Amino acid sequence: MNWRIDVAVQTPAHSALGDVLSYASAAPLAIGSLVRVPLGRREVLGVAWAVHPPESGATPSIALKPIAAVLDALPPLDDAWRDLVAFAARYYQRSLGEIALAALPPQLRELGTVQLARRLKRQTGPAQPPAGQPAAAPALSPEQAEALSRFDAETGPFLLFGSTGSGKTEVYLQAVAALLAREPAAQALVMVPEINLTPQLEARFKDRFGSAAVVSLHSGMTNPQRLASWLAAHGGAARIVLGTRMAVFASMPALKLIVVDEEHDPSYKQQEGARYSARDLAVWRGQREGAKVLLGSATPSLESWHQSRPAAGEDTGGRYLRLAMPSRIGAVALPAVRLVDMNLQPPRTVLSGALLDAIGQGIARGEQSMVFLNRRGYAPVLACGDCGWKSECPHCSAYRVFHKIDRTLRCHHCGFTERVPRACPACGNPDIAPVGRGTERLEEHLGELFASVKRPDGSAVRIARIDADSTRKQGALESQLAAVHAGEVEVLVGTQMIAKGHDFRRITLVAAVNPDGALFSSDFRAPERLFSLLMQSAGRAGRDAAYLSAQGATAEMWIQTHHPQHALFAALRRHDYPAFAERELEERAAAGMPPCAFQALLRADARTQEAAQAFLNAASEAAAALEGADRVTRYPAVPLAIQRVANVERAQMLVESGSRAALQRLLAGWQPLLHALRRQPEGKGVIRWLVDVDPHSI
Ligand code: ADP
Ligand code: ZN
Ligand code: ZN
Repeated sequence: MNWRIDVAVQTPAHSALGDVLSYASAAPLAIGSLVRVPLGRREVLGVAWAVHPPESGATPSIALKPIAAVLDALPPLDDAWRDLVAFAARYYQRSLGEIALAALPPQLRELGTVQLARRLKRQTGPAQPPAGQPAAAPALSPEQAEALSRFDAETGPFLLFGSTGSGKTEVYLQAVAALLAREPAAQALVMVPEINLTPQLEARFKDRFGSAAVVSLHSGMTNPQRLASWLAAHGGAARIVLGTRMAVFASMPALKLIVVDEEHDPSYKQQEGARYSARDLAVWRGQREGAKVLLGSATPSLESWHQSRPAAGEDTGGRYLRLAMPSRIGAVALPAVRLVDMNLQPPRTVLSGALLDAIGQGIARGEQSMVFLNRRGYAPVLACGDCGWKSECPHCSAYRVFHKIDRTLRCHHCGFTERVPRACPACGNPDIAPVGRGTERLEEHLGELFASVKRPDGSAVRIARIDADSTRKQGALESQLAAVHAGEVEVLVGTQMIAKGHDFRRITLVAAVNPDGALFSSDFRAPERLFSLLMQSAGRAGRDAAYLSAQGATAEMWIQTHHPQHALFAALRRHDYPAFAERELEERAAAGMPPCAFQALLRADARTQEAAQAFLNAASEAAAALEGADRVTRYPAVPLAIQRVANVERAQMLVESGSRAALQRLLAGWQPLLHALRRQPEGKGVIRWLVDVDPHSI
């Protein structure tokens, strides 16, 4: 008689297979065990999800295939981990196996029992106290001390609302230190939004806790590195796991603390496959496992801000506890914000005279400036002045970007790349010209403007650019950042890549040269993103208190805009996130938008726009009869802002409800209908569909 084991395996997306597949086993095995099972002609990794004893008398209708191997050198994945995976699958409308397998290190899929046992032998043993002499912690500022003592005393979740440079990282370090001192086996998870922020943070944590206690988990690691980190976390040897959004799924049996740094950052939301929010899952996981959750930001997401509102009148307040650290370490002032009214500048001005003067004065004092433009390439469009031809992508409803460095036209959506034509492909005019400006052109422009300016020692001004193009090669970003830190650059040009998190010491001026686009975007989250990006960029300036006070100088944030009266800039000038948030929240509440409502998108990709929309319309009709439908608004199907990418037409439909539970009920009932619809005439021509719960941009 065989035991029946339900196993979560990665089934092809949108296949008709269920969440788990059943296999036979002669002996029982522990739930959460990793197993290898046959699937089609392959043998794949899976997680034992349920174990059923042999049923005497009952003859199984189909003969189950046996489990091929049990990776019993590894302790099983615990209940808490499986609950997290199950919740994420349910909430984000994906299959269990997809989430479970994506949460495991890729190399685990290739290892047999013998190889795995060998790998485990090489791993370090159980948790050890930090070796060597850890770096001493600085004395806390009064605000840091107050935040930490409340963190200790309450249960949370907490929102640490601390200005850039207020010493949030030090609070994380000491919260972790206190935990590890108190509980010998406890583990902490610390998440950051970007891979390029992990090295600096890793160095700080290893300094403090010793390198044996700290491991990283992010997609920039090799598969063997990821496996080693994962095994250390799963086995308990790693006391601290640092990572990007994927780390929220790390198996950590003794998890007691989760930190989410820069919790507002959009990169916590996965934008393909299972579109989960690592920040939201962290909060859920903390609650499930009794781990304290500490979210930190200078510009919290409006969701977290709203959740942490204090009680007032009828309102009993939010679920989170807000901890505020308004002052910068060393009592340095936040950068002075200077708005340049571009309406008063000569037409076609790229960089105003006043800004150039300020950059020049910084150079004369031996300081650095950062000029920020959120568009890479040389120019977003190449155009013919005679016939009106533009560098459209033949496969997308978008223009191809002109990259002067290798003289190509590149589509940033589908990747289609061609050499720049010598003359207009439509009329033969040899005089085709770039329109608009990206970081490459800005770098060139600055080079021309400062060509004759000299540094104090008489040498030439050095200008560098950091963006996705300049950092394509392995290690390029690290070396470029190192050059900035080493003071080998006077003017740094870049995209939002340079705006986040970095602790630059000598930058005293930050300039946003063209941020206006986001002010009038159709995406309701655009102002929130712009505000936080500008505050974050400003936060890169004037981080060295000793230097600034010795100079008697203040740091500056320059903003060139055609809308200097805009309320967003008024709040930014005062570094007044609460005022900005309050206004935005009022607008959101009045319009019934998140965080005052809950949303999901149903998206369809098809050969034609008609087919994509027909599928969505049929889906909407099918949803009308579902439980919860009366409390969920279904909007009409519309094309995406960039309607066609790689010759695929894209459309989406927004569904929205004041009740998260009602929306979740509807989505759960919808899923099987959508699978069925795909196979009906309404699904003809549909290439794929997906549901995005709590979407970031709509
Ligand atoms: P945030 O993460 O809030 O932007 P950081 O934690 O990076 O700020 O702190 C900013 C700078 O202040 C860092 O160089 C850090 O080492 C330093 N710092 C933080 N806390 C203290 C403290 N209590 N005493 C002295 N220096 C501190
Ligand atoms: Zn032409
Ligand atoms: Zn394209």
